[in-house]
Amino acid sequence: MKILVANLGSTSFKYRLFDMDDTQATLCAKGGFERVSEYTPCIEEMLATLMAEGHLAQGEDLDAVGFKTVLGKDLSGCVAADERVLTALEGFKEVAPAHNPAYAEGIRCFQQKLPSVTRVALFETAFFQWVNPAATMYAIPASWRELGIRRYGFHGASHKFIAERSAELLGNDAVARRARGLYVDGPGDYSGAPLRVISCHLGGSSSVVGIENGVAIGSSMGFSPQSGLPQNNRVGDLDSMAIPYVNKMLGLAVEEAEHQLNKESGLLALSGISNDARDIREAAAAGNADAQLAVDVLVDSIRHWAGSFYFKMGGAEVISFTAGIGENDPQLRAKVCAGLEGLGVVLDPTANEATTGGAEGIISAPDSTIKICVIPANEELVIAREVYRFKQSQ
Ligand code: ADP
Repeated sequence: MKILVANLGSTSFKYRLFDMDDTQATLCAKGGFERVSEYTPCIEEMLATLMAEGHLAQGEDLDAVGFKTVLGKDLSGCVAADERVLTALEGFKEVAPAHNPAYAEGIRCFQQKLPSVTRVALFETAFFQWVNPAATMYAIPASWRELGIRRYGFHGASHKFIAERSAELLGNDAVARRARGLYVDGPGDYSGAPLRVISCHLGGSSSVVGIENGVAIGSSMGFSPQSGLPQNNRVGDLDSMAIPYVNKMLGLAVEEAEHQLNKESGLLALSGISNDARDIREAAAAGNADAQLAVDVLVDSIRHWAGSFYFKMGGAEVISFTAGIGENDPQLRAKVCAGLEGLGVVLDPTANEATTGGAEGIISAPDSTIKICVIPANEELVIAREVYRFKQSQ
């Protein structure tokens, strides 16, 4: 079955083509476009490339297209990307302005261009469907809650892959099976060997998630992907009183404050240099105090959330690092794990330094009771697998 995974940013379009069957997923092609203002020409060029490379005779040879949709009002899970999804994306476009309009437009373009090809949406919130309601609530008036203001959790496809892969790496087949089948079978009951994972997705946008026996118990991200850890140019968590205060003191309208929090904050604002962790790390190494502060704030926030999930789960068997920073920055990983020997967290410095550039590995010392893993992100594979199952269940 030929499944295309479409990753749509507000200015980019990336794709991967998988050939799937019951036992394996083969990545056939990948590509993308930057500085995109319209998706239709990109889809046409992508199809032309896939045909020229011999993967497809025509666009209609695709069995399905999967979309990594972010936040739907009243809708989550793995569902047909139909009018219901478009309405759900539209309903929360103010909450995820960089993502929802892009996916709505992209889904419409595929609908027009390839109407016979099945379209499937896998929401980034799907992995958090089973979080205890007490961990999803903000203490706000009922009229606010009725708008859908609550904690959701994002990066679901990435954290689900970590749930599966951590279990495989630790040889816990029962948890690996449970995590893999979660969206179809639900969590059900579990009585096997425990596997509690603190999953750190650290990239342009970052989140820490607690995963108990393959099922998420909570995320550092809340109502929107703007919350939680400091992001590349987005604020992360902020006390709600700050907005009325800057409104009074600086005369900032809500829209201006929103713009500054979403575009001019995060690691960019703290470092005063860049929104890219590589530049910040280099400047910090060269003695720039603001760059060092940005790194320290990120590390402190990762430890804050990791500690929260450690306590909530009553311990952990694994700490996993993934995404651009998590996979490539041994220094940051070492800072996150520093001084935790009392909890049984002991890094192997040589393995830590050696595991970069897309490598997978266990970077804890043999006597570390909590294993520390680096796992390259593979969100697209999770989407392709769910789309495959969705197609088969039709
Ligand atoms: P996203 O998909 O959210 O844009 P990525 O997972 O691609 O993010 O991660 C991008 C981030 O990873 C950037 O901040 C980049 O600087 C960082 N990164 C990539 N390579 C390295 C590296 N070698 N060392 C430190 N940070 C890195």
